Amino acid sequence: MEKGGGQPEQEESEVSEAAGCSETLLQVNDVDPPVVFLCGRCQVALGDSLAWRGNDEEDDMIFLKSVSENVVVAKEQDISMAPKEFGCTTVALSCSGCSLKLGKIYKCTPKRLDCRRGLFCFDVSAIESYILGSGQNNALSEDRKLLTFETCASVEEEVEKVSFLSFHFASRTGVLLKNTSVSEES
Ligand SMILES: [Zn+2]
Repeated sequence: MEKGGGQPEQEESEVSEAAGCSETLLQVNDVDPPVVFLCGRCQVALGDSLAWRGNDEEDDMIFLKSVSENVVVAKEQDISMAPKEFGCTTVALSCSGCSLKLGKIYKCTPKRLDCRRGLFCFDVSAIESYILGSGQNNALSEDRKLLTFETCASVEEEVEKVSFLSFHFASRTGVLLKNTSVSEES
């Protein structure tokens, strides 16, 4: 039953399975801008809301179906002793940047927690989020000229002109000095 892929009726199995679970797996709201989840300590990107599979407010967790390569999945499995998930088999998730413990993946669960199994479960306290488009620092206003390719090119041109002139001036000075010393000698 769990494996049940391949049957067309199970197209929406993720949704109905989630709905039947003891906790609410919220679907992504298409209206909200995407959110990037970052490590709470070193700020590397861990994943984003396009992989959102829900959250659990009581346990302060969010669930993603895929993550970035910055999330390290432990090789060894743990058996949870926490009362709510007693006997669950999990593997720990940590940050590749700073080794902060981020959450876990449930490998084996009681029916009540089946909807978490195989998902990347992050502790909300370990992560931060950045909402796309929420930047507050605006670009410089029109009157403050930006350094563009064009202005860079003209600056380079001026620098070349000046260095040519100074070279020319230096060699002229050299000739003059030489002439002076020659005339002094004679
Ligand atoms: Zn980190």
